[in-house]
Amino acid sequence: MGDLLSSRQPLRVLHVEDDLRDAELCRLHLEQAGFSLQAHIVASAEEFGKALQSAPYDVILADYNLPSWSGLDALDTLQREGRDIPFILVTGTLDDETAVECFKKGATDYVVKDRMARLPFAVQRALDEKDAREDRKTAERIRDLLASIVESSDDAIIGMALAGTILTWNRGAERIYGYGPEEVLGKPVSLLFMPDSAGELRQAMEALERGQSRSRHEMLGATNSGGRIHVAVTLSPIRNAGGQVSGASAVIRDITDQKRSQNEIMEAQKMEAVGRLAAGVAHDFNNLLTVVTGYCSMILDQLKEDDPMHREISEVNKAGERAASLTRHLLAFSKKQILQPRVLDLNQIVAEMDRMLRRVIREDIELVTVLDPGLGSVSADPGQIEQVIMNLAVNARDAMPNGGKLVLKTENVDLDETITQWHINVTPGVYVNLSMTDSGSGMDAETQARIFEPFFTTKGHGGTGLGLSMVYGIVQQSGGTILVYSEPGHGTTFKVYLPRVDQAAERAECAAASTPPRGTETILVVEDEDAVRNLIASVLQKQGYTLLLAKNGGEALLVSEQYSGKIDLMVTDVVMPSMGGTELATRMKPLRPDTKVLFMSGYTDSGIVHRGILNPNTAFIEKPFALPALARKVRDTLDAP
Ligand code: ADP
Ligand code: MG
Repeated sequence: MGDLLSSRQPLRVLHVEDDLRDAELCRLHLEQAGFSLQAHIVASAEEFGKALQSAPYDVILADYNLPSWSGLDALDTLQREGRDIPFILVTGTLDDETAVECFKKGATDYVVKDRMARLPFAVQRALDEKDAREDRKTAERIRDLLASIVESSDDAIIGMALAGTILTWNRGAERIYGYGPEEVLGKPVSLLFMPDSAGELRQAMEALERGQSRSRHEMLGATNSGGRIHVAVTLSPIRNAGGQVSGASAVIRDITDQKRSQNEIMEAQKMEAVGRLAAGVAHDFNNLLTVVTGYCSMILDQLKEDDPMHREISEVNKAGERAASLTRHLLAFSKKQILQPRVLDLNQIVAEMDRMLRRVIREDIELVTVLDPGLGSVSADPGQIEQVIMNLAVNARDAMPNGGKLVLKTENVDLDETITQWHINVTPGVYVNLSMTDSGSGMDAETQARIFEPFFTTKGHGGTGLGLSMVYGIVQQSGGTILVYSEPGHGTTFKVYLPRVDQAAERAECAAASTPPRGTETILVVEDEDAVRNLIASVLQKQGYTLLLAKNGGEALLVSEQYSGKIDLMVTDVVMPSMGGTELATRMKPLRPDTKVLFMSGYTDSGIVHRGILNPNTAFIEKPFALPALARKVRDTLDAP
């Protein structure tokens, strides 16, 4: 005991005693036992009160019988002050009743004066008990602190039994999963995960039993409302005092938003890459198809309707046209289509499409349009916007094989910065929103992630997988965004956002189809692909024009220099090796200021179109073109003021 006691230096004693000899006796006993003492002796209630206020004490020794008051009164004072100091009565004699009363009032111990040898033990025990009390309080404080940290965490922190039963449930868990504690306590933890994750979860639980933990493991969580969330799960074994695994803790973080941003970035990159590939293929195909369909229609012109070759060539022609439409889709997707934007009223477009839409969707589908009368204008290519609406409507129809409802809605929408929290690719700004909602089959997340990819279809041979990729390209190229909201079994909404412009809409006019007009002017055709050049030449010659031909810009300038007559029109390809069509036109301008220019291209990365948007004053024809369309365009360009 000696060693232990000497480590507690010095023992601060408040001694309530009127007899100094008794006090001295106590001191002797304690010092003999190894205590070193710093004693303060008081005799009156008043002195006692003062001493308590002015200094800290380790122990109070008190005589029971004092002249004007008793040890019991001292005990009362101590209790009133709310101080936790061990209180030992040192007294001559004490009857059992008084002793019991003293203990009831909170005395720690009592020592009878003629058995003073017990005093050091009583003091030591009182001190040890006090230490234990304090340790317990500290432990309680730490436990409360830990509990409040767990409780206030944003993450779900869950205690489990080894069998996977949920034992504790914090507020983070409630927030993420939407269950109150009463709904989950005692339930299996598998409740918190999608069935697809069951195998993973089982493995993780088995690993826990072997004492292995698992850090930030990504899994699919299931919320109370049936929602599916991405979670990062850390599972750790909890061991008992004996070192055996007795339970486990799960820290679950909701990473759905983070995942969504990552996915959107990856998605955008993937679409860019696929777009570049598609654009490259489509560009080369355009030239080839112009030749195929061009010669087909020339041959057809020369064949009588009843010629057996007529049908066969028609088939070739049709196949060529189908292929041309496919490349147009690809170009649209890769944002390489040439757009001829005008300031439009989407309400007008939707209204004018009403008849056509009703024909496309079936009778068992109810079409509802909700048009905002105060809708702002957008700047877009009307033909392309019709394509967007048509493709979305056809898909909606396909998703409602047993009928349903299709709602087309227009409205003005202002998107502020908060939108970027949900969709990082969307720029805040003022938009016109065209949304199309169907009550059809809806889509799961895997399908949604791929719908805009070209050739992605869930319709087997019935689908081309090009509808939405085209929609995507057109919307993006028009400076807009398309978002999709869908749940399996709950229908689908596509939202197209186009930037709102501050101008009144023009009325859309429609082009009249007629027989290709003829002419007698002189035309210089500049095109590097022999087949295409020859084709254009023979078509235009047949229409009555005089033709000059050149393989490239340099040759065109040479031809122009050597030709003494008037050249009324130059039809030039835009993309050619060494000197492109734009440069050629610029160099030709001072030499022949009266010569008009018609550009042709299948591709928008060129001088005449800036980011695929055509200057309205530039005459342009998109490859591949039908020959009558070329003849008409040539005539229009010649006749233009
Ligand atoms: P396609 O219609 O030829 O399959 P799309 O590019 O138009 O090609 O659409 C791609 C896929 O997107 C469809 O196969 C379908 O799975 C899905 N999809 C598109 N629109 C909807 C819709 N409204 N409801 C359900 N699924 C849709
Ligand atoms: Mg489709």
